[in-house]
Amino acid sequence: MLGFGAADSQDFAAQRARMVAEVDAMYAETRVETGLAAMSPAVRAALGKVERHRLVPPSQLPAAYRNYPLPIGGGQTISQPYIVALSSDLLQVDARSVVLEVGTGSGYQAAVLAEMVKQVYTIELIESLGKTAAAKLAELGYRNVEVRIGDGYAGWPEKAPFDGIVVTAAAPRVPPALLAQLKTGGRMVIPVGGEGEIQYLKVLAKRADGGYDEKRVLPVRFVPLVPGK
Ligand code: SAH
Repeated sequence: MLGFGAADSQDFAAQRARMVAEVDAMYAETRVETGLAAMSPAVRAALGKVERHRLVPPSQLPAAYRNYPLPIGGGQTISQPYIVALSSDLLQVDARSVVLEVGTGSGYQAAVLAEMVKQVYTIELIESLGKTAAAKLAELGYRNVEVRIGDGYAGWPEKAPFDGIVVTAAAPRVPPALLAQLKTGGRMVIPVGGEGEIQYLKVLAKRADGGYDEKRVLPVRFVPLVPGK
């Protein structure tokens, strides 16, 4: 792909370190709402490692490590690094976990999770985005991420149940199929809110009776989860 020299790599590493520091600062600012005083060591390590500049479109290279959302084509955006970090932390997953992501986009959130868990399954509705992300993730050496083109509303029943599910596009309601594919005790992180409504990042913890406990974390702005055909 792009031929980055040693000097570029060093510069990107420095930018990445600054990005991590900015995310640290946002955790401190939002500690009351999120209940998280600081990034977990696993999330911090992943953010410090994933080469975000190799996942964003070339046109976004100068902004790759800015702590705000970036356009990735098709009217879609790659989430702000802080939101990626927070979502990854709220899942409470570890090196044994199997996680489903809905909305692969650039593949950045999938790569961050791939650093933290055993296996990531990720679904993208837009074929061109999914294919690009799959190719880049393979090029970066992630062997524990599988990308599927399809409708995330239906989840990925063949690979269920999951220890964690992260939805990176906003849904008016929590899709029942996704809830059904979550293990008891597993968590789902999902922005909930319909068009024109305020969206909230929510964390759902699935109970043994099939219901779930819900926590509203923060107001957020995600692109909508598009109903598949
Ligand atoms: N997690 C991504 C950001 C995703 S933006 C990243 O780290 O870059 C949300 C993505 O969800 C978009 O790529 C959009 O195409 C996708 N999407 C929207 N509706 C979907 C659906 N029903 N199923 C799967 N993906 C969907």
